Amino acid sequence: MAGKVAIIAGGAGFLGSHLCDVLLKKGYEVVAVDNLSTGSRQNIAHLGNNERFTFIEHDICLEFPEVLRDKKIDVIANLASPASPPHYQRLAVETLLVGSVGVKNLLNLAKKNGARFFQASTSEVYGDPEVHPQPESYKGSVNSYGPRSMYDESKRFAEAMIYVYRKKYSVNTGIVRIFNTYGPRMDPDDGRVVSNFICQALEGKPITIYGEGNQTRSFCYVDDLIRGFVSMIESDVEGPINLGNPGEFTIKELAEIVVELTESKSIITYKPLPGDDPMQRKPVIQKAEAQLDWRPTIDLHDGLLKTIEYFKTHNKQTNKLLVE
Ligand code: NAD
Ligand code: UDP
Repeated sequence: MAGKVAIIAGGAGFLGSHLCDVLLKKGYEVVAVDNLSTGSRQNIAHLGNNERFTFIEHDICLEFPEVLRDKKIDVIANLASPASPPHYQRLAVETLLVGSVGVKNLLNLAKKNGARFFQASTSEVYGDPEVHPQPESYKGSVNSYGPRSMYDESKRFAEAMIYVYRKKYSVNTGIVRIFNTYGPRMDPDDGRVVSNFICQALEGKPITIYGEGNQTRSFCYVDDLIRGFVSMIESDVEGPINLGNPGEFTIKELAEIVVELTESKSIITYKPLPGDDPMQRKPVIQKAEAQLDWRPTIDLHDGLLKTIEYFKTHNKQTNKLLVE
């Protein structure tokens, strides 16, 4: 892939920074475009000396800077969007705009360059699913008017926009629907369950289960997911295609596993369940297996151990190694 140019929107985020790492290793020239609304410079600080890496601080909802307009681009990977419920609720209007105006801007850039366009969609397009597990053919049960709708509808609108650009303008698009993913460089303060539980356990603070903890999620380790991203980016597969680990756990089980693996003395406390919180979530991954030859290899136990090690050894505010 030497000489190929990839734009990664949201490249300073948790998943985006891992994608930058892997595409650079494969020989791409990588340009990370990020407005740093939920990502951080620390996530990409280690790439500062790589001459094939550039960072541009920019909001994809605005007109692109000249340097992007003039570049010959081969791949556009769009990961830009607030992703955790506290963040997308705080940045509610921005979330709606990034999935509409932002996606349209990137699609136009892909159209102009004849580039492959990759979209990080989400299992949230299935809402609080009535079909379990969820295949891509399931059309979902989303509340269009509620506390998650700014995210769910933004991602659904993005898929619709991508469909139109593919059919109308022949843009080479690929959509993946990501199920809950965790690992190093998660933002410890963005409120997601894995980072919350690990940080609480390591600090000896109460583990906060929302509701009774009977709701389920399927957790995928970041390295597995990024391998799937790369397969999708380097294929002409259209999708939407689910990427996630089908291992399904209740949130209470997750809390117990984290307490055990961290050998924490934290107690478990129960807080109110947020509105529209999906009760269950588990991907059908037959399409990813058949079309991308992709399946996850890292189970929850091993992935959590790696993530716990990361949170133990990195400063909570800066993501920097505590001991160099
Ligand atoms: P993240 O918050 O770490 O990364 C998102 C990045 O997008 C951040 O760096 C943020 O600053 C940037 N961004 C937001 N709005 C932008 C804008 N207008 N212009 C430019 N940059 C902008 O979250 P993440 O977990 O890395 O998620 C990456 C993508 O994957 C998101 O689109 C998210 O919806 C999707 N996703 C993630 C998961 C998961 O479990 N991590 C699950 C489903 C979908
Ligand atoms: N959750 C929890 N305690 C926390 C954070 C989250 O019990 O401290 C629950 C949350 O209500 C949801 C699940 O864990 O049922 C996953 O939450 P997360 O925000 O990680 O992802 P999403 O809800 O988007 O799947």
